[in-house]
Amino acid sequence: MDLGIAGKKALVCAASKGLGKACAVSLAREGCAVTILARTPGPLEETAAEIRRDTGATVTTLACDITTEDGRTRALAACSEPDILINNAGGPPPGDFRDWQRDDWIRAVDANMLTPIFLIKATVDGMMERKFGRVVNITSAAVKSPIEVLGLSNGARAGLTGFIAGLSRKTVRHNVTINNLLPGPFETDRMFGNVRLAAEKEGVPFDEMCKRRAAANPSGRFGDPFEFGEMCAFLCSAQAGFMAGQNVLMDGGSFNSTM
Ligand code: NAP
Repeated sequence: MDLGIAGKKALVCAASKGLGKACAVSLAREGCAVTILARTPGPLEETAAEIRRDTGATVTTLACDITTEDGRTRALAACSEPDILINNAGGPPPGDFRDWQRDDWIRAVDANMLTPIFLIKATVDGMMERKFGRVVNITSAAVKSPIEVLGLSNGARAGLTGFIAGLSRKTVRHNVTINNLLPGPFETDRMFGNVRLAAEKEGVPFDEMCKRRAAANPSGRFGDPFEFGEMCAFLCSAQAGFMAGQNVLMDGGSFNSTM
C-alpha cells in the first residue's frame, strides 16, 4: 500500500536506536526526508548511514537532548516546518515512589509530557495552515495498564495522554492528526535493560527471565521494532486522516479486555 507521504518532512525524536529508529526507517522507506536526533553522536551517525544505504532517503542528524529547551530549538531549526512529528524520549527509570524526589518527577514530566507538548505547540499551527500534519507520540502500554515500578512513566505519560485527547479534536478538522502509539514489550535496549534488572532482583539468569516474559505474553514473544515502525508509518499516512486522538496499543494482546 502506498501511504501517500513520499516527499514529506519528518522529525523523529530519540531515533538512533529502538522504537524511534524503527519509526524513522519505516518513514524513510515511504519516501519521507527524515531528521533523526539522539544525544550520542556515534550511534546516531551509524543509524543515519544505515537508513540512507537501505532506503535512499535524505537523512539529517542532530545530536541533542530533546528534553531541553536548547535541544528543541535546535531540532526545530534542523527540521523547520515538519509535516510529521514523532515524539519520543527515553523513559524514566524504574523504582519505588518513596525514593522519588521532586526533581525525579520534574525530569519525568519534562521528558515524557512537556517535551512532546512543546514540540506540538511549535509545529501544529503550521501543519494546520498547510492542511497536512501527522503527530505520533510514543508513550507506553503502561498508560492503559500501569506497571508498578514504572510509576514515573505511568504518571507523566497519563498527563500527556489527557492533553492529546483534547487537542487532537481541534486539529483533525485541518487534516492534522495526533495519536499515541503504546508499546508493550519490544526488543530494544531499554526493554532488555528492564528485564535484566528484574532478573537480578529475582536471582534468575537473564535468558531465563527473557523466556518467562516472552512466554507470559499471549503472542509467546516480544514485539519486533519493525512492527512498531510500520504501524507508526501507517498512522502518518494519508489514509489515516480520520484517526484522531487514539491510543493504539501494540502489546501482543497482553492487555486483557473485550474492547
Ligand atoms: P532505547 O532502545 O533505549 O532507545 C532510546 C533512544 O532514545 C536512543 O536512540 C537514545 O539515544 C534516545 N534518547 C533517549 N533519551 C533522549 C533524549 N533525552 N534526547 C534525545 N534522544 C534521547 O528505548 P526504546 O525501547 O526504543 O524506548 C523508546 C520509548 O518507548 C521510551 O520512552 C520507553 O520508555 C518507551 N517504551 C518502550 C517499551 C519497549 O518495550 N521497548 C515499552 C514501553 C515503553 P541517546 O541515549 O544517545 O540519547
